[in-house]
Amino acid sequence: MENETRKHDILILGGGPSGLSTALHLTRIDPHLANRILILEKEHYPRLKLCAGGLVIDAEVILERLGLDVREVPHVDADSIRFDFEGKGLNVRVPKRHAIRIIRRSEFDHWLAKKAESRGIEIRQGVTIKKVIPDENGVTVETDQGEFRAEIVVGADGSNGDTRRSIFPNEPVYTARVLEVITPDYTTSNNKIASIKKQERPRNDVAFFDFFAVPNNIAGYTWDFPTQINGQPMRCWGVYDTNLLADQKRPALKQPLAEEMKRQGFDLNDYEIKGHPIRWYSPWNKASVPRVLLVGDAVGADPIFGEGISMALGYGAIAAQEIAESYQHGEFSFSRYKRRLVRSGLGQTLLARWLITQIIYTFKWKWFQILLWRMLKPIVLFVAWVFVLNWSKRMPATT
Ligand SMILES: Cc1cc2nc3c(=O)[nH]c(=O)nc-3n(C[C@H](O)[C@H](O)[C@H](O)COP(=O)(O)OP(=O)(O)OC[C@H]3O[C@@H](n4cnc5c(N)ncnc54)[C@H](O)[C@@H]3O)c2cc1C
Repeated sequence: MENETRKHDILILGGGPSGLSTALHLTRIDPHLANRILILEKEHYPRLKLCAGGLVIDAEVILERLGLDVREVPHVDADSIRFDFEGKGLNVRVPKRHAIRIIRRSEFDHWLAKKAESRGIEIRQGVTIKKVIPDENGVTVETDQGEFRAEIVVGADGSNGDTRRSIFPNEPVYTARVLEVITPDYTTSNNKIASIKKQERPRNDVAFFDFFAVPNNIAGYTWDFPTQINGQPMRCWGVYDTNLLADQKRPALKQPLAEEMKRQGFDLNDYEIKGHPIRWYSPWNKASVPRVLLVGDAVGADPIFGEGISMALGYGAIAAQEIAESYQHGEFSFSRYKRRLVRSGLGQTLLARWLITQIIYTFKWKWFQILLWRMLKPIVLFVAWVFVLNWSKRMPATT
């Protein structure tokens, strides 16, 4: 059995949000495709995925369109989001709804995988992809469980994925450095913050971003989100650095995180730090070769925040359209995929976010950051509402 090559029509490599979304959108376009899809996932659900789990409105819109109700997943809603520079800045609320919903990825991805299975999609867990080799007639996928052969392959294996590495071995990679820490929430860690005056304490239901480290060449921000683990209120903290200022002198990445946590009464040394890169989108990132296309972080997440769950879901919608049309025409060059992506709501927001990233992080001076986050509120809100959020409404319908 080990040496036998197993043949499939559509192999999706990776069972995170981008792979599962591609499969779910494909079955939405053509329910007969369900039994032609096989997802290979190296872990077993519920599996750990380092992520703050912040879902923006676009993620919810795409899930709703798939007939899925994310409220079934344990979550915490933040009423508002603060975008600060040194603790002062913009407070953002969305009328009549939460500003951001926070899930745990182990629970969210497990839920999404079960939804895919309930729609007839097969997921094989515990299979690690080693190499992807396309040829004229199909694609060979080498794994730790032997060889698979498919008509087409979707590379959905994330920022460190082997699919992209196999098909674009020499392509430059733009990755952000990210660290994450989980702590008790402000209420339960009272003893630690007793020294901070009550009115100065951020409320538990606010998600914070602070860009104070940009002038020190950390081209990103620290975050502090509400979250929950097994129903217990917790906080998820982290630091994100696009690496755009990597050629200049920078402190160790954990330093700004330690500073921010200390300001709020937490000691970073008391908690376990975990790190993972995020590959971010640049207009030059490649997305396909004949018979293989990439989705999610394998192409690139949002460079401003490293926000990638909504994007991953969006990539799935575009890839499914490309695949369905390829089957109609019996032609698998995927030569239209990048154009389709760039013209979509997702492609437009990714390009806008890439441009914004080049401005807000390379104009790193303190005065500029203060101007941006504290004084240009109407402009920042307008840009965020029009160019950063609400792109899912400009995505193609699949029904
Ligand atoms: C610390 C951190 C915090 C983040 N916070 C947020 C946030 O708050 N909000 C947000 O929107 N985004 C956030 N992101 C980004 C988000 O996690 C990603 O953009 C998103 O997970 C991308 O989805 P994906 O399906 O493309 O890849 P992934 O979610 O990485 O899924 C890839 C899947 O492929 C599997 N896989 C990988 N390699 C192989 C292999 N060789 N063989 C088989 N299977 C394989 C993995 O096990 C995984 O299940 C964060 C990322 C990090 C690192």
